[in-house]
Amino acid sequence: MDKFSFLKPALDARAQQGRLRNLQPLLPLPQSRVLWQGRSLVNLSSNDFLGLSEHPLLATRAQEYLTRFGAGSRASRLVTGELPAFAELESRLATFKGKPAAAIFNSGFQANVTLPLLFAGANDLILMDKLIHHSLIQGALLAKAQVQRFRHNDLNHLEQLLSQANQKSYPRILLCTESVFSMDGDLADLPALQALADRYNAILLVDEAHATGVMGEQGQGLAQGADLVMGTFGKALGCFGAYLACPQLVKQHLINFGGGFIYSTALPPQVLGAIDAALELVPHLHAERAHLQAISAQLRQGAQGLGWDVGASQSQIIPLMAGSEDRALALMEHLREQGFWVSAIRPPTVEAGKSRLRVALNALITAEVVRDFLQALQGFRG
Ligand SMILES: *Cc1c(COP(=O)(O)O)cnc(C)c1O
Repeated sequence: MDKFSFLKPALDARAQQGRLRNLQPLLPLPQSRVLWQGRSLVNLSSNDFLGLSEHPLLATRAQEYLTRFGAGSRASRLVTGELPAFAELESRLATFKGKPAAAIFNSGFQANVTLPLLFAGANDLILMDKLIHHSLIQGALLAKAQVQRFRHNDLNHLEQLLSQANQKSYPRILLCTESVFSMDGDLADLPALQALADRYNAILLVDEAHATGVMGEQGQGLAQGADLVMGTFGKALGCFGAYLACPQLVKQHLINFGGGFIYSTALPPQVLGAIDAALELVPHLHAERAHLQAISAQLRQGAQGLGWDVGASQSQIIPLMAGSEDRALALMEHLREQGFWVSAIRPPTVEAGKSRLRVALNALITAEVVRDFLQALQGFRG
């Protein structure tokens, strides 16, 4: 008897729906290109929004740290993994994010499964935007709190849930949103959300995975006013890892009670070196941010002009709403033929009928490439 045969039906069902996920080897090439099956394509699905993964300063700083401190960090941060660079980076991050303290995590996923249960337990309530990232949903489940989802960016619905919660008098309410949403590229109304959180004595946690480095005058993101802000280094900062920006007391609590922070080997030196270089560069990348905004507007307007629905995108993430899965896949293949790699996003990642191509632009893409892309889009018959 095969012990694992119970896994087959779910996979077979996926395959029958044409939704089986597969890993695709892609060799990165310079200037946001990838080598796929012997062809060089423009990567329009990368989260490396500022092109920093290719920046020489990140590579040299990473090599420097690797040479000086070794390939691994040897233990968790509380044991012997606390390289002096952590404290220095966290202090810079706190200033960058406009918060009293910051803590570095190994990844955004790890931060998001660690954080909710620090603020909400079995008697508490967690309210989340309908489109919140999977990692925060997992974190909320671990907290064992009541979880309710409010309609995407619908503050009336949220207020309704908050006032109902008020009557039930939960000891604590945690409210979770993203500042730039990962699949739709639209923005949350953070001042209004914080005002609601304050009125109902809820704690607001904002995920800035897609805003860090890109949004704000210095790339600091959009959530300065929020109670708690997390974000990642794996996207616009071009390397790996994540952070929480928070009050000192919260950091103390995290270091003492945050399982995902305590019981995991610290980030390796070379990653800290790359983060160090990225944090040095990001505040000055005004031209890159302006260019990214400009090509994003160019692509949105161009696509809309061709009749495409781009949702409520206001950022470098631009969905091309295809509707059915078949249409999304056909468009993906058409664009690949034309030299562009864009991933189709289908259920269960998005709702049925909301299959799309998720274009994610980065500062290495030129206006000419966007023009060529729009031309390729125009040639799609489907
Ligand atoms: C990518 C992402 C994460 C996970 O971050 P990693 O560092 O890649 O684990 C969390 N939240 C959002 C919104 C993301 O887009």
